[in-house]
Amino acid sequence: RHPVPHADVDAVQAAVQSGRREERVTPAVGFDAYRASGGYMLWRDLVEGRRSAESVIDVLDTAGLRGLGGAGFPSGRKWRIVRDMPAPRHLAVNLDEGEPGTFKDRWILEQDPHRMLEGLLIAAHVVGIEAAWLYLRDEYPGLRTMLAAELDALRAWAPHPLPTLDLRRGAGAYVCGEESAMIESIEGKRGLPRLRPPFVAEVGLFGRPTLAHNGETLYWVRELVEQGPEVFAAQGRHGRQGLRRFSVSGRVNKPGVHLAPAGITLRELVDQFAGGMPPGHTLYGYLPGGASGGILPARLADLPLDFDTLQPHGAFIGSAAVIVLSQHDRAVDVARNAMRFFRDESCGQCTPCRAGTAKALALMQGPRWDAPLLAELGQVMRDASICGLGQAAPNAFDSVLQHFPDELA
Ligand code: SF4
Repeated sequence: RHPVPHADVDAVQAAVQSGRREERVTPAVGFDAYRASGGYMLWRDLVEGRRSAESVIDVLDTAGLRGLGGAGFPSGRKWRIVRDMPAPRHLAVNLDEGEPGTFKDRWILEQDPHRMLEGLLIAAHVVGIEAAWLYLRDEYPGLRTMLAAELDALRAWAPHPLPTLDLRRGAGAYVCGEESAMIESIEGKRGLPRLRPPFVAEVGLFGRPTLAHNGETLYWVRELVEQGPEVFAAQGRHGRQGLRRFSVSGRVNKPGVHLAPAGITLRELVDQFAGGMPPGHTLYGYLPGGASGGILPARLADLPLDFDTLQPHGAFIGSAAVIVLSQHDRAVDVARNAMRFFRDESCGQCTPCRAGTAKALALMQGPRWDAPLLAELGQVMRDASICGLGQAAPNAFDSVLQHFPDELA
């Protein structure tokens, strides 16, 4: 549907391959350093019977840990659901990280990959997992090489049998970050999201019950158990609970991954963690959750950033990819760019999304938008798309119509 001249494909391929040769990642904390800090002791305590599986789930519940890939499902409840399903069970770790503006999982793996791997082993033990699949985006080739080596080090050391650990390459499709599409892709098929129910917790990888987790969620497990869930739960601002990693980019002095309290406001995040805005820039708006989470104006910069807090304003935090806009940016340009991305990344399986994203992009081209028609189109896309891509895509134009009408005047 989107023909690309072969010369361009070749050029991209060459650039990717040369990048592969150059990119080498050495984690800040490798296997030996992680072990020296007491790493994998918690997993051994569980396997050797010094700590109960139920106590770990209780910690997740008390801490209020929710899925940090974007869905925000309570982690302890998810572990119980999959544990109660018949064996064999699988674990799929989502390291696809395709949401524009999100790079926290990359940072986690570059810093301390074994903390995530110990979380994986703990989850596998508690839930009774036979095989774990790590689905890493192919745009992180240096991380793949590193992770393969660190997994080898773990296997060579492990004093107890490990679940099967299989590192899988994504192939650059945004939709494969959606858990059921990821599962199709791991199975070797096209990454087409599945209709639900049944949910992947019941019928997931190879037809078996599957625990699907984002890498950051697993990364928190050791810390929560060692420090106590109350320490984590006591963090948070404006009535929210916990900590999370924000990928901050755009018009800030210190873009990057910032660990901040859940519920922090955009204004606080920019001023206290991201070094403020560069000279000559004043806050105009922001994307709280990458391309799919909508666009909010500066007058809403004091809302708590967390699950469930932004919905009344047509936005959501998703994987906490915060992109900051200044007066030099226009929300209509951002919205068109997002819709072009969704059109290109739609898997094409269902009409409301395949045709809807293309139609929306066409309707967003002129200086005046047909608001009633876009509203009707958006409603169809939300109601009838199979997965979150088509359901969230209307956030792009809804945000402009709701919060930036002056740009269309
Ligand atoms: Fe594919 Fe879009 Fe339908 Fe999702 S909503 S299944 S991406 S066509």
